[in-house]
Amino acid sequence: RRSYSSVRTLTLGLIPADGIGREVIPAAQQVLNALPSSYQLAFQFKHCEAGFEHFQQHGTALPQQTIDVLRQECDGALFGAVSSPSHKVAGYSSPIVALRKHLDLYANVRPVISTTTGAGEAAMGEKAVDMLIIRENTECLYIKKERQFTDSDGQVKAIAERLITQGASERAGRMAFRMALARQAVREKQPVDQRRWTGPPKVTIVHKSNVLSITDGLWRESIRHVYENTPEFRDQIALEEQLVDSMVYRMFREPEVFDVVVAPNLYGDILSDGAAALVGSLGLVPSANVGDNFVMGEPVHGSAPDIAGQHKANPIAAIRSAALLLENIGLSQPASAIYQAVDTTLRKGFRTPDLGGTATTEEVTEAVCKHLQ
Ligand code: ATP
Ligand code: MG
Repeated sequence: RRSYSSVRTLTLGLIPADGIGREVIPAAQQVLNALPSSYQLAFQFKHCEAGFEHFQQHGTALPQQTIDVLRQECDGALFGAVSSPSHKVAGYSSPIVALRKHLDLYANVRPVISTTTGAGEAAMGEKAVDMLIIRENTECLYIKKERQFTDSDGQVKAIAERLITQGASERAGRMAFRMALARQAVREKQPVDQRRWTGPPKVTIVHKSNVLSITDGLWRESIRHVYENTPEFRDQIALEEQLVDSMVYRMFREPEVFDVVVAPNLYGDILSDGAAALVGSLGLVPSANVGDNFVMGEPVHGSAPDIAGQHKANPIAAIRSAALLLENIGLSQPASAIYQAVDTTLRKGFRTPDLGGTATTEEVTEAVCKHLQ
């Protein structure tokens, strides 16, 4: 007799885009499909076009159909990688930037977790790092309001405007606090000796308000305001601040003291790339673009044209991005299972050339699938 089951079906958009994106996104898809049936999850995948190659063939980097399918039919998405032309190409603009706008994905979220392998281990002295960097993704210097002119004294000058708003700062802060609580809920289910963070949930606000007292002042005040006026956050989360320069120093010296870190766009960009170096190859590091209604996982690496089509791409960043996507949809158990299968795979020595191994993309992917069972 068949037991009554309630399988949840998730519809996910897959946007491989360019270069190794076309190799690592199918790898992530294969891993999702290999999740044991005990998780009661089924996936329906929507294949979507975007990217520089698509622009070269069809004149658009992001077809309207992709936007519509993602918006109307999908619960989340996985993006591969997009090639950035080395010179300015008329009519071309990055599809990933446009997708973030269309789907209102206002934060970029990057977990920084020490792995049991590779450069990470040596660089870290085997410290148990488990931090989450949240980068505000809609404003700051990235509004690209720059101008250059020759002043009356004959000097060529360039000025960039930096936008910080109360609303964007508050929602980034709120996301940081919510994620700090969600991470705590996951930890509580882990055996104590596996927890990498044992204190109460903590959020660190990064800023430079000793110098930029108006813009960074508004950023920190807005986040503090959310904290002080939300009892759920105030009662359960420790809040601290770090000036961005000392944040860099501490992140490299003692990364194990951070839980959730929230930073304005530019500082967040720099911190999260620095943090990727802490834990090893680009091929290992996942990210997610997160809004209130949609999540899009995206490996941190680019399209790596130098190794595309050679079965050398490390699929782990994309596989972990798929797990991060599930985690942000509230499915932390299958997400943990994927993270663990990846750890086992690395520990057993299945490594692509970027980690000093000889395994192919397909071999690593199959090993992850096997260790999921
Ligand atoms: P793009 O213009 O798309 O950013 P890029 O040339 O900057 O392309 P990146 O993807 O940023 O390429 O990669 C930089 C280096 O890291 C390249 O040498 C690339 O081969 C390597 N690399 C990046 N991702 C991976 C991966 N998943 N597996 C193995 N090597 C990778
Ligand atoms: Mg690059």
